[in-house]
Amino acid sequence: MKKVASVRGNSVKIVLKSGKDQSLMRYHPWVFSGAIKKIYGDPAEGDIVEVYDNKESFLGAGHFSPGSIAVRILSFKTADISSDFFRDTIHRAIGFRSRLGLDGSGNTNMFRLIHGEGDGLPGLIADYYNGVVVLQFHSTGMYRSKDLVTELLKEALGSRITAIYDKSANTLPYKSGMEPHNGYLYGSSEVPHLVSENGYSFEIDWVTGQKTGFFIDQRDNRSMAASYSRGRRVLNLFSYTGGFSVYALGQAERVHSVDSSAAASATAARNVALNFGDNERHEAFTSDAFEFLAQAKERYDMIILDPPAFAKHNNVLGNALQGYKRLNIKAIENIEPGGVIFTFSCSQVVSRDNFRKSVFAAAANTGRRVRILHQLSQPPDHPVNIYHPESEYLKGLVLHVD
Ligand code: SAH
Repeated sequence: MKKVASVRGNSVKIVLKSGKDQSLMRYHPWVFSGAIKKIYGDPAEGDIVEVYDNKESFLGAGHFSPGSIAVRILSFKTADISSDFFRDTIHRAIGFRSRLGLDGSGNTNMFRLIHGEGDGLPGLIADYYNGVVVLQFHSTGMYRSKDLVTELLKEALGSRITAIYDKSANTLPYKSGMEPHNGYLYGSSEVPHLVSENGYSFEIDWVTGQKTGFFIDQRDNRSMAASYSRGRRVLNLFSYTGGFSVYALGQAERVHSVDSSAAASATAARNVALNFGDNERHEAFTSDAFEFLAQAKERYDMIILDPPAFAKHNNVLGNALQGYKRLNIKAIENIEPGGVIFTFSCSQVVSRDNFRKSVFAAAANTGRRVRILHQLSQPPDHPVNIYHPESEYLKGLVLHVD
C-alpha cells in the first residue's frame, strides 16, 4: 500500500481513526464523518479527497461532503480521479448493459445506464428512455462533473441518443450551495416520450413525472406479475404509471389501478389505452390505498402493493415497518382464497430481513395460511455492489394466501 508521502501538497488528505478503516478495507464506498481522525487541508463540498488509515496507508479517493457521509469513494486504487477514470467507468457501465441486451434496440428501450454505487459512480443515476438520457445527481461532487459526464455519455452513446436531461433540482443536498435547475444538457425532446418495455408501450414524462419518469426497477417483477395474472381480478395499489396494470391486463379478467395522485391515475389510464385501446377490463381510481382497501366492495385474487419508500431515514424505521405491516394486513385480510399478493419495499433503510418480518407479522395478525412463492429484487441494470448492501433497496415477496 502507498504511504502518505507527506501531508503537504495540494491534495486534501483525510486520516481515519484507528479501527475505523475496516469498512473501507472491505470496499464499502462511504466514509462516515465519525470515522475521521484528521483532515489535512480545507476541502470544499464536492472536492476530491484522499483517504488514509491511521498508519497512513492509502485507502481510496472520492468526493468530500460535509454531511454524515463525509466521503463517497470513487476508487480504492488510485487518487488520480481523472477524466479517463470517468470515461472508463461510464464505458464499462454502458458495455455491461449492452451485453445484457439493453442497448436501445429490441423491444426494451428503457433501462438504467448508471446505477450509482452499483456501477462505481456514487451519486450518479442515469436512465435511458428510447434515445434520451435522464440524469439525477445525488452528490455535489458528482454534480460538479456534470459537463464531463454529459460529454462522455455523448461520446459513448453516439447516435443512440438525441438528448440528455438533468433532473437534479430536488436530489442534491440542500447545503450544497449549488442551485441546480432541471433542463436539457444536450439536445431536447418532447414529452411525453414513447418507450417500450418487453414490447409494451409507455409514455414517459421526465419533466413532471416522479424520479426520472418511470420505475424501471420493477421490469422483471412486472413480467412475473404478468405470468400470474391469467383470469385473475387484479388490484394494483400505488399504480403510478400503471406498469403492473399493463402487464397484468394481457390475461387478467380485470385490473383496477389505484393511486392517490390524479395525474398518476390519468397516466395509468393512458398507458393502458396505448396497449389495449379503450378497454373496459381496466379502471383507474384516484384514492388513498389504505382507504380503498378498507372500503373495497369488489373481490380480488391478485393484489400488488408497491408503495413509495415509507422510510427515507433510519430514525423513522420503526414507523415504516409498522406501515408495511398495516398495509399487508389489509391486503391479506381482503384477498380471496387462492389469491397472490406481490408486496414490495423500496426503502433503502429497510433490510430484506426486516421487510420479511413485517410481512410475517401481518400474516400472523390475520391468521390466514400464507406461503412465500418468490423473493424478488431489482433487475441487473440496477446491480447491487456486494460491498455496499445499501444498494439492494428493492425487496419483494410473492405470497400465496389460502
Ligand atoms: N408501482 C409503480 C410505482 C409506485 S411509486 C410502478 O410500477 O411504476 C408510488 C406511488 O404511490 C406514487 O405514484 C404515489 O402517487 C402513490 N402514493 C403515495 N401514497 C399513496 C397512498 N397513500 N395511496 C395511494 N397511492 C399513494
